[in-house]
Amino acid sequence: VIPIPEDYIVQNLYQCVSHLTYNKHTKVYNGSCPFCKEGESWGKKTRFFYIPRKELAYCHNCGYSKKAFNFLLELTGKPFNIIINEIKSREYDDVPVIANKKPEVKVATPSLPDDCINLSDISQLKFYESNAIVKVCLDFIKSRRLNTAINKPKTMYLSLTDFTHKNRLIIPFYDLEGNIVFYQSRALLKSDSFKKEKYISKVGGEKSLAGIENVKSDTEHIFLLEGPIDSYFIKNGLAVVGIQEDSDRSFGEYQRNQLASLTSFTRIWCLDNQWSDLPAFKKTSTLVDQGEKVFIWPKELKKYKDFNDICIDQGKDEITQKFVLDNTFSGLTAKIKLIEIKNQNHE
Ligand SMILES: [Zn+2]
Repeated sequence: VIPIPEDYIVQNLYQCVSHLTYNKHTKVYNGSCPFCKEGESWGKKTRFFYIPRKELAYCHNCGYSKKAFNFLLELTGKPFNIIINEIKSREYDDVPVIANKKPEVKVATPSLPDDCINLSDISQLKFYESNAIVKVCLDFIKSRRLNTAINKPKTMYLSLTDFTHKNRLIIPFYDLEGNIVFYQSRALLKSDSFKKEKYISKVGGEKSLAGIENVKSDTEHIFLLEGPIDSYFIKNGLAVVGIQEDSDRSFGEYQRNQLASLTSFTRIWCLDNQWSDLPAFKKTSTLVDQGEKVFIWPKELKKYKDFNDICIDQGKDEITQKFVLDNTFSGLTAKIKLIEIKNQNHE
């Protein structure tokens, strides 16, 4: 039996279990059962639990009870060998050798991974200027235009030592007061992206809406995107992380509270390109069925994946709200647009 890293299980929980919350006191995860879907109570009850200490998943509704490994198999639907490979690949990290200096400047805060370097702090950057990973990270930020994006966060971080998040770009999620309440890390090195998920969420963290600290009430819209990086490129862009087909299932408890403070805004969903991304197409269709307003990618932008992709290619730091609103639809008009995409993609 191989040990299963907790962060691997947690990552899968966040991906597959809706309404997931974490209780810091009991150290137990709770959500809607991914197996029985809570029967008639779907969306109302959360009777599914995962207890890391016991490596046990169980549901009070259907009686599901499995240890971590079998639970992972059934939760993800991935074959045995794939799971084993994914777990094994997390046990070590072959990264370029980095200069063996003791850092002088550290940010010691439990809201971030270990020993985070503040990438907006000139003196910290100066200290690490010869570090290969820091260079890779700064190059990534620059080539993706994250340092100039219109709706970027105050800063981003990098850890060279954290067990799970080392050598990855740390993307902080702030609350309205500017405290970091959640984070995700994104792979920077090729070796890392083969071994770990491209994005890893904070273990034991409750996801919040990235970008909420930047929301301005001079316009009446907020824009909901899948990932933080794309949300940097539109004013009032918010990243949901893990958009489900059912809009309500996309939000965690904390996010729902945050949204409650934004009810004066009209929300527009901006998913990845429906011309090329089938899951995005399906999610958009379901959102339309639920009466939501959705951005539908115009045909002339068929070649782009997401907002960041357009900005990199066109050397821009902003996707304007006007452009998005001009291509936002709901109801029957949205359905017709989606049917056009479907038909033309099959021609
Ligand atoms: Zn169940």
